[in-house]
Amino acid sequence: MKINLSNIKKAQKLLNKSECVAIPTETVYGLAANAYSDKACKKIYKLKKRPKNNPLIIHYLNSQILKRDCNFNKDFKKLYKIFCPGPITFILDLKKNSKISKIATNKKNTLAVRFPKHPITRSLLKKLNFPLAAPSANLSSKVSAVSSAHVKDDFGKKVKYVLEGGKSSIGLESTIIDIRKKPKVLRLGGIEISAIEKSLNKKIIMENNTSKISSPGQSKLHYSPGIPIRLNVKKVCKEEAYLLIKKGSKKKPNFYFLSKNGNLKEAAKNLYNTLRKIKKDKYKSIAVSKIPNKGLGKTINDRLKRASKF
Ligand code: AMP
Ligand code: MG
Repeated sequence: MKINLSNIKKAQKLLNKSECVAIPTETVYGLAANAYSDKACKKIYKLKKRPKNNPLIIHYLNSQILKRDCNFNKDFKKLYKIFCPGPITFILDLKKNSKISKIATNKKNTLAVRFPKHPITRSLLKKLNFPLAAPSANLSSKVSAVSSAHVKDDFGKKVKYVLEGGKSSIGLESTIIDIRKKPKVLRLGGIEISAIEKSLNKKIIMENNTSKISSPGQSKLHYSPGIPIRLNVKKVCKEEAYLLIKKGSKKKPNFYFLSKNGNLKEAAKNLYNTLRKIKKDKYKSIAVSKIPNKGLGKTINDRLKRASKF
């Protein structure tokens, strides 16, 4: 997508005035504000109706700039080299003299950081003298936005500006990894755990949902289209929308496909868009057929499972 400089300038101007702007990223759209400003970060929580105890991911252009705010270790440096910019979020120790807003961290002494790949958001970050706090640009606990139209559907005019960046290329949130000691994944996402394990040559722990939750946003109903979801369904009712991983021979008006041939990357990219479409088409419930639990399929299943806790 072509970079429109006047759009970026408009976003820059608003962000400099502590306003919120929706930004495109390769994972999902973000609702961004100055991460050094309490006033700006408060607006994110208010707009999203997000619980105050759920801290925000901070978006940086590169690790050089992050040095102001966080301490690094060897594992971080290795993964940064391989996967950044890209769909991976690191939990790091916050430096004592960091200027990051305590509203964004909920007074934690750790910080979730990411380096987005989307060229438009990278151009914007280059122009700012602060990093961007940016959770997903959707109402709290609802389906994430993967296009500017989705952001407008959720917020209308309440968000002052949506920076257009086309459809998000990955369509699922970042993988969150706590890298401070033994690497531990807090949220499945756009990068597979096996790829991280290979890069670090280490086994990675997956945070168990029943243990103490260190990523608060992960515990409750999340990613919900606002209607009930049934999983692993073989027999669908007529009134339900039926979500399938691939296009089969049967085509019925209530059948929705995530991919042509079962490609998991394509399915991930289409997931949130399809959930939103089903809701728009006025179905009252969704039945999901089995989705292979491998690679990105694990992340898709994770999201559908949380979305089904209606
Ligand atoms: P989102 O709202 O979709 O951007 O998701 C952000 C996720 O990052 C939430 O689940 C937060 O709980 C998590 N998060 C942010 N900061 C931290 C942190 N310091 N430690 C652990 N998880 C965090
Ligand atoms: Mg979110």
